[in-house]
Amino acid sequence: MLTGKTALVTGSTSGIGLGMAKALAEQGANIVLNGFGDSAGPQAEIAALGVKVAYHGADMSKASEIEAMMKFAADTFGQVDILVNNAGIQHVSPVQDFPVDKWDAIIAINLSSAFHATRLALPAMQKSNWGRIINVASIHGLVGSADKSAYVAAKHGVVGLTKVTALENATTGVTCNAICPGWVLTPLVQKQVDAKALAMGLTNEEATKLLLQEKEPSMQFTTPEELGALAMFFCSSAGNNVRGVAWNMDGGWTAQ
Ligand code: NAD
Repeated sequence: MLTGKTALVTGSTSGIGLGMAKALAEQGANIVLNGFGDSAGPQAEIAALGVKVAYHGADMSKASEIEAMMKFAADTFGQVDILVNNAGIQHVSPVQDFPVDKWDAIIAINLSSAFHATRLALPAMQKSNWGRIINVASIHGLVGSADKSAYVAAKHGVVGLTKVTALENATTGVTCNAICPGWVLTPLVQKQVDAKALAMGLTNEEATKLLLQEKEPSMQFTTPEELGALAMFFCSSAGNNVRGVAWNMDGGWTAQ
């Protein structure tokens, strides 16, 4: 049980982040949500689980806003015990055509934000000798796919950051691990299904099947609930000595 602990989940107004936040709230953790779009709905969903919830709308591409969010979390709940670095965006294009502003945004949101939140969360975790940092990387932290240069570079970076953070805290009660999902049906992936359907004149169902078929032998999406359960394992006492892993939940993607 995580009663009395506080979890901050970046990019938690939808998709995987919201799934993570719900899983942590179900175990009793107070939650700080972050992300764009509707925040009232997600806040109500978390509050219904009987824990305290707060929201900060920091833009994760901006270090100063991340600093403000971490201060807000500490002022509201005392300290952050569990940090889930989850916010992320995608853009697909060959390297030679990749828009420079998209490259910069992906590196900032998918990689540098994890560095900033981690550096700001660590001192309090080290002081209390307990903490969990969970980086939502991707299967693209382990292997590449064409047209995803910035995303793959950022996610490989997140896996590297995970290992170093874990090593630097290896003799303490603070652990850091990465989760590497294959396909999860969230707005981020639905956009890729839509692009495929449009380009190839397919129905949503046909494009979804093709997307899975290309990479995922299970032909099934991983769910935010399954990812939340893995996060819970890292947070449990069974996860005390799990340090620096990049754990894939990918329907066999990387077993091929
Ligand atoms: P999503 O689009 O549903 O959610 C992304 C979240 O990040 C949203 O809450 C959004 O508001 C927030 N966000 C985006 N830009 C932000 C910014 N600048 N500042 C603050 N918040 C911002 O996507 P998702 O699929 O749930 O992705 C979550 C994470 O999981 C990402 O890091 C993604 O790379 C990773 N991931 C997703 C999949 C997948 O198949 N969906 C697979 C592997 C890894």
